[in-house]
Amino acid sequence: MAHAIVTGGAGFLGSALTDALLGRGVDVTCIDNLSSGRLANIEHLSGRTGFDFIQHDVIEPLPDLDADMVFNLACPASPVYYQADPLRTARTAAFGTLNALDLANRKGARFLQASTSEIYGDPEVHPQQEGYFGNVSTTGPRACYDEGKRFGESLCFDFRRMYGTEVKVVRIFNTYGPRMQVNDGRVVSNFIVQALKGEPITIFGDGSQTRSFCYVSDLIAAMLAVSDTAPGVTGPFNIGNPEEVTVLDLARQIQRLVGIEENIVFRDKAVDDPRRRRPDISLVNETTGWRPRVRLATGLENTIAYFRDALSLPSPTARATA
Ligand code: NAD
Ligand code: UDP
Repeated sequence: MAHAIVTGGAGFLGSALTDALLGRGVDVTCIDNLSSGRLANIEHLSGRTGFDFIQHDVIEPLPDLDADMVFNLACPASPVYYQADPLRTARTAAFGTLNALDLANRKGARFLQASTSEIYGDPEVHPQQEGYFGNVSTTGPRACYDEGKRFGESLCFDFRRMYGTEVKVVRIFNTYGPRMQVNDGRVVSNFIVQALKGEPITIFGDGSQTRSFCYVSDLIAAMLAVSDTAPGVTGPFNIGNPEEVTVLDLARQIQRLVGIEENIVFRDKAVDDPRRRRPDISLVNETTGWRPRVRLATGLENTIAYFRDALSLPSPTARATA
């Protein structure tokens, strides 16, 4: 039986990846310090054969477990979380990745790094291709994350060059879906929670900035497709959904799907906020055949249903018949 270690396994993506690996018959040990993740995301796995959870901070060396695969997802991903303690974020991105690579190297395991579209910063090239080196502020409030993740990629390729470690890097673009926390702070969860509570949606800036949102099930399929590639196929691969929307259109779409009148307030633009973001996914598509399947409207409907439940709000049908 193959054994995978998933750092950040109690988080939004890590828990979905853990479910998918267990579904394939792979044993999984999740390692997480529960800083932005939750036991609730993995409690349905408690007691299941082949699953284990270890509460541990990846800034410290990882437990000496045998492994065939190491998926390195431990790192806060929401700007609100990663900017709350930027030095901890930098340590997690740097030492956490170093420790996870060290373990993979010692155990001869395949290593998959969860990198990010943020390594492109505020991109001057659109859509973003993997060959673009990016436009990142080294001094701003996002740098702890952006530069940390860039360094994480460097470490992967240095391990490969020095020790022949089998590394693969995915650059994840904005992903959303069930298991995001109510107070996650990222745009999709914030907007849905505000709309469901009947509060105005808060847009930072004028809403003309764009993002391209990928539904969680598509993203996990992409991670597995990259993980399955032959030894020596490293990427980096962009993974995400190229369906690009402005933040203003996203707000309007969410209010429409929730069934409320447009109610939007505008606040100051975030510092160093990327103006446009859209992945060019030709490389991953040509290499693995993967492409996203879930349209934004469908993914948002699923996510709205999840947050309605998380906020203990009645479903629209229950309301109509009450
Ligand atoms: P998340 O915050 O839900 O998950 C991160 C997990 O890592 C949490 O469970 C957290 O408790 C854990 N963690 C953080 N620091 C840790 C530490 N020092 N030691 C042990 N565990 C630690 O976020 P997510 O959206 O699931 O992101 C997962 C990974 O994917 C991250 O590495 C993130 O950078 C990357 N990513 C996500 C997105 C996205 O849109 N969701 C986009 C780009 C990259
Ligand atoms: N944003 C917003 N209101 C919110 C949260 C985010 O207008 O309540 C904006 C944010 O300024 C950025 C975009 O939405 O322009 C995406 O933000 P998010 O934090 O989800 O992710 P990012 O891609 O910036 O890391």
